[in-house]
Order: sequence, then C-alpha cells, then structure tokens
Amino acid sequence: MDILKMTITQNVDNLHVRAGSTRLIEIHGNRTKVRCIVCESRWLREAFDYEDLPPACPECGGLVKGDTVMFGEPIPPRVLEACFNATDKCDCMIVCGTSATVYPAASFPQAVAERGGFVIEANPNPTRLSEIADVVLKGPTGITLPRLVDRLR
Ligand SMILES: [Zn+2]
Repeated sequence: MDILKMTITQNVDNLHVRAGSTRLIEIHGNRTKVRCIVCESRWLREAFDYEDLPPACPECGGLVKGDTVMFGEPIPPRVLEACFNATDKCDCMIVCGTSATVYPAASFPQAVAERGGFVIEANPNPTRLSEIADVVLKGPTGITLPRLVDRLR
C-alpha cells in the first residue's frame, strides 16, 4: 500500500528481505551476510571469497565478519544513524512483537512519542511501551496486523 516508509528490524533471519521489504534497516545485522568492521560494506555470505583467512575487505582491507551484531558488540554506526534518521522523520511508528527493553531500539518509539508522533504497539503482552503508545493492539501480530491492514484498506 506504500504507507510504510521504513522497516527497522531486530531480526537477523532475513525474512523481511525474503518478504520483499526494500526500505529496511537490519539493526542487528543479517545472518545471510558478512560485513567489514571498518567500512561497513556488506555482502551475501556466498558472494564473498574465503580463499585467504581471515577474510579482508576488498574495499578497505578491514576484517570481514558475520553481519550479525553479537551480544556486547556495537551496532554499526551507519546503521544506527539510519535508524535515528528514519525515527526523526517518522510521524507514526508501529512497534511489533518486541519487549521494548533493548536499547537503542527501545528509544525509537519513545522519540516519536516525545515529538508528538503516533505510536502503535502490537504485542501479546504489556510492555513499558504500552504506557506511551497511542494504540495497543493486544495479541499475536499474525492476527492483529492483518486486521490493521484490513482497516486501512
Ligand atoms: Zn571495508
């Protein structure tokens, strides 16, 4: 329907790509890709050459690792910047299936709400976000989101 301007996902499973999402920020990376830790270039795992180990970035020579952001590892700066830019432009954020406790992602709907934007939470259980959300769609997203789309149509 061309309503969503951006999807920010914490999932690393590539399902948004497989579903056809093109305006997509994978804040915790994508397990089907590798990434240079210096210049943040990304490639599909199978498209990268592992002849020499450890793999070096053909762009800058930096170390190439799995794209997934591991526990304690910083989110790549350009990815984080893209998230903040999308959040700054957002007038309505739909937050789906998250405990809303992992920062910085949990700060995005807070920023939208503080700016006077509309926040919709779709979640089976209450979270901290429920208190600031304008609308809470209580239930599994597999049920609530199709209903939301039906209402929009
Ligand atoms: Zn590089």
